[in-house]
Amino acid sequence: MNNGKICISVCASTVEELLAKMAVADETADVIEIRFDCLSPAEFDPPGELPHEVLEKILSATRKPILTTFRTKDQGGTRDLAAEERINFWSTGYETDLCDLEEDVVEDSWYWIWGERICSFHDFSGVPDDVDAVYDRLSKTGVGILKIAVRADDITDAIPVWKLLDKAEKEGKRMIPIAMGEPGKWTRILGIAHGAYLTYASLDSGNETAPGQVTADDLINVYRAKELDKNTEVYGIIAGNTSYSMSPYIHNAAFKAAGMNRVFVPMQVADIDAFMRRMVKPETREIELNFHGFAVTNPHKQAVIEYLDEIDATAQKIGAVNTIKIADGRLYGYNTDAAGFIEPLKQRFPDLKGIKAAMCGAGGAARACIYALKQNGADVTLFVRDTAKAAGLANEFGIEARDLPSKDAGSPFADFDILVNATPLGTKGEDESKTIAFAEQLGGIKLVYDLIYNPTETLLIREARKAGVPVIGGLEMLIEQAEQQYRIWTGNSGAGSVMKAAALKRLQQQ
Ligand code: NAP
Repeated sequence: MNNGKICISVCASTVEELLAKMAVADETADVIEIRFDCLSPAEFDPPGELPHEVLEKILSATRKPILTTFRTKDQGGTRDLAAEERINFWSTGYETDLCDLEEDVVEDSWYWIWGERICSFHDFSGVPDDVDAVYDRLSKTGVGILKIAVRADDITDAIPVWKLLDKAEKEGKRMIPIAMGEPGKWTRILGIAHGAYLTYASLDSGNETAPGQVTADDLINVYRAKELDKNTEVYGIIAGNTSYSMSPYIHNAAFKAAGMNRVFVPMQVADIDAFMRRMVKPETREIELNFHGFAVTNPHKQAVIEYLDEIDATAQKIGAVNTIKIADGRLYGYNTDAAGFIEPLKQRFPDLKGIKAAMCGAGGAARACIYALKQNGADVTLFVRDTAKAAGLANEFGIEARDLPSKDAGSPFADFDILVNATPLGTKGEDESKTIAFAEQLGGIKLVYDLIYNPTETLLIREARKAGVPVIGGLEMLIEQAEQQYRIWTGNSGAGSVMKAAALKRLQQQ
């Protein structure tokens, strides 16, 4: 348990809507930030001044501490605010607990009525060259709580702002460091464990008031942000895009169920070299987050290998690492995709020797699946949209690469037993209505294995059912490979059912 607070930021254009949102925030927030700049200008009369009874109604709608904010557009507010509006708003004066004031108004005389001041600085364009100078400027105002929020385009952009936590601690200041955007999400999750005064959360998905904000529900129930401390073992998913990842939901549920002081955080990485050097490798890292392991996915599964001290034989043969364990400062690489794929299959086909598998797709997932199938004695043929591009993979495993069949090809898989989809066709979004094969093309196939897990019932799975062909959906592989990761990190097993329930819950939310 740490001393940090979860502040739900509430933004609404009408007073009625604001009150409704506050009522929801009231249930979980430690502090409610009211973004008065979100209210429509029509609510104010004269500009910037809310009628006294309206202000009173809003501020007495909760017993939770209120943080008042009336932010200009250049600092992340919703509209341009004239100087007169800002003076009118702040000089109205009303007793709240905290107020967030930008540098240019923080020293004006009327602040005292609004409670303790937070002096805030926002940069939505990136990270200022000298964040320390910004801190020093804010610090000179004499305000006890400093907030610096910058935009992170890559994960390492968050380092300078994160380092300010130590500086603030040494100087006896309270600090709220935020790296905005998906690459900076970890600062919002881990901040209060490392001494940040508070962390902002959104009321729910779709109600974010700043980029990268996590919902209050996720912060409290998935990441357990208030229960973390500097000794918490930190794990994470290293990915080019973490925004759709199921891994934080799956792994945090398992850690929580086991009562472990561990957390699993999204780590959106563009430059893998900078991340490994500046944040992970013990000899070169600039900050200490107590990393103990990672899941790794596109596009870093191969590039990450050169930063590891050892990789196990399976990962070596596949040529890709999807799991890293950190122990005694050394980084160990593994691949759980292959086992994750093959275990559910072996439950249906205990003996895969001589089985003919048609593998659609030639990306990272296909690579692990081909390895596992070949290890178990199956014959694999690749089906791809670009055979020249897939030639390298085909040669590496000594298999044939054919063109993916067209929609009107009769029974293109008649010579095969198993059909595997390792392409994104069928995934939620623009590919959802696509499939590598329709029911009438599945003649001869004894089992369809679709790696896609969102949605759980893809068009391919529905087509297979129509043709009476047994199926395996991608969720089984997702959970199996995650269970194996959990085993590598904790030495324990048996987290599968908790993981599956968490995955299904998350899929329903999407
Ligand atoms: P990847 O490395 O990007 O490879 C995707 C493969 O699909 C490539 O061969 C690509 O061909 C092909 N492809 C892409 N769009 C296509 C289209 N419209 N028509 C035909 N082929 C197309 O991705 P990956 O990591 O291998 O993942 C593949 C799928 O498996 C993803 O949807 C992922 O969600 C799923 N997956 C599931 C699990 C699980 O645990 N269930 C694990 C890993 C992956 P080009 O090279 O020509 O682009």
